[in-house]
Amino acid sequence: MPELPEVETIRQQLEPALTGARIAAARVMDERWTRPVAPAEVEEALTGRTIAAVERRGKYLLLRLDAGRTLAMHLRMTGNLLLDHAGLDPPYLRAVLELSGDGRLLFTDARRFGHATVIDDDELDTYFAGRLGVEPLSGALTGEELCRLAAGRRAPLKSFLLNQLGVAGIGNIYADEALHRAALHPLSPAGSMKPDDCERLRDGIVQALEAGLRTGGASIDDYRDSRGEQGTMQEEFLVHTRAGEPCPRCGAEIRRTVVAGRSTYFCPSCQRRLRRRPRRRAGAGTSG
Ligand SMILES: [Zn+2]
Repeated sequence: MPELPEVETIRQQLEPALTGARIAAARVMDERWTRPVAPAEVEEALTGRTIAAVERRGKYLLLRLDAGRTLAMHLRMTGNLLLDHAGLDPPYLRAVLELSGDGRLLFTDARRFGHATVIDDDELDTYFAGRLGVEPLSGALTGEELCRLAAGRRAPLKSFLLNQLGVAGIGNIYADEALHRAALHPLSPAGSMKPDDCERLRDGIVQALEAGLRTGGASIDDYRDSRGEQGTMQEEFLVHTRAGEPCPRCGAEIRRTVVAGRSTYFCPSCQRRLRRRPRRRAGAGTSG
């Protein structure tokens, strides 16, 4: 599933081609893409609009349109956005934006979980406030902020990182990679982090995401960039999908477990498992 680095890679590729382009026609071939809004309604909202900017929030790709509206797209499991100049329809084509002049933006999706919605710009902040937390590469993510988000949470660190309302944009791959960089065990209760753990985790998140960006994303399943090409992050995974291989830091065997229903890879030797902080008994040791 595309995560922040994959969506950002697509955004950076699309930005020069789409900014200032006019949508001459929009075709939605799959009603699931726009559900519960009817495809015709979305086609009408897009047709004739000019794309003012291409942005990203978390794992969402945003086409900011003139006339104060935004097309927000989420690729989910197998969605791809392809910039096409050849005029050939790829498999699993679900929607087409014909651009004035030259080119088409194609949305393909084998498993059809991808989604798009048109939002009024003055409702964008409200829309994302209920879906996304802090942007990890914006500079807003600090160790202190991570500790604040994690405070009192018993959920394992892996689940904490997958929750988009805390830190936005992290999925299964980059959660594993960030936790390995931070030397923290994925099953540690999130609220057990001390300030220095939060600092290391913050650095681990940023470094893992930046590695993903540098390599054009990870193509272990259906992910392709807007040119239909694979990223190479999978060649640089420290632990993700590497069960049985030696840990690049300490040499111990990397293990696989399942956390929150997701395959989770970690080094049992150098990723420290934090203990839940003992709860202070009422009245004990706190008198005065
Ligand atoms: Zn290790």
